[in-house]
Amino acid sequence: MKQILENPIIKERIGVQIPIVNPRRVTAECSYKECRENVYAGDIVIQFDEDWFCNERCLCKHMGAIRRVAR
Ligand SMILES: [Zn+2]
Repeated sequence: MKQILENPIIKERIGVQIPIVNPRRVTAECSYKECRENVYAGDIVIQFDEDWFCNERCLCKHMGAIRRVAR
């Protein structure tokens, strides 16, 4: 269900109603300390124990793992 909100400041300034779609709901933030991006409901992300990561790269960096060419 989409909820449309009215922004009274914009309506007052320009005299018309511009609907604002609810922003996405933040459920967590990436646990990698140098990222901390928001994790939004509905995003496909990585959960490891109680930690959330926005992608494999952040999980690897958090764990101290690296991607490299195998020899
Ligand atoms: Zn991240």
